[in-house]
Amino acid sequence: MSSACNPGLYNEIGYIPNQEQFIVLQRTFSIIKPDAVRNGHTGAILAEIENAGFRIVSIKKQSISVKQAEGFYAVHTARPFFNDLCAFMASGPLFPMVLEKENAIADLRKLMGATNPANAEEGTIRKKFAGSIQENAIHGSDGEETAAFEIGYWFAGYELV
Ligand code: GDP
Repeated sequence: MSSACNPGLYNEIGYIPNQEQFIVLQRTFSIIKPDAVRNGHTGAILAEIENAGFRIVSIKKQSISVKQAEGFYAVHTARPFFNDLCAFMASGPLFPMVLEKENAIADLRKLMGATNPANAEEGTIRKKFAGSIQENAIHGSDGEETAAFEIGYWFAGYELV
């Protein structure tokens, strides 16, 4: 394994017998956001994720405080929508989860679609389930460093099995 790989994200290697090759399984972090939970889309979104080949490493239902949302979205502190975004994330239960597959980070971003559902491609989760640029159904890490930080922010090591 290359030293460039984050060990927390690449800690399993899968073997595909029929293709006689090894694949590197990468982990990413995702949240089914409060709008999707409120609207009864949790099961449908999980089905999309599993049908796309992700393994759900860990998932839990949680309600968070505004402070916890602020810590998670700290990189967005300067954005004009920061307070609204954090209030929204604290507005009801959500489902944080850790997902695993080959190219998990990039593949989840593709499955999610654009931030603004109006610009999201047909067939993506945000196109199907998001209502607005803020209440956009799902979060997914945008890179390796972000994924490592976000997994550690929401899950203890013993929860990742
Ligand atoms: P993502 O990586 O596609 O989730 O998008 P960003 O990292 O840019 O933004 C984080 C989250 O902030 C988004 O998923 C939205 O919930 C919210 N957001 C992004 N842009 C806007 C905006 O222009 N207005 C509002 N109200 N919320 C936004």
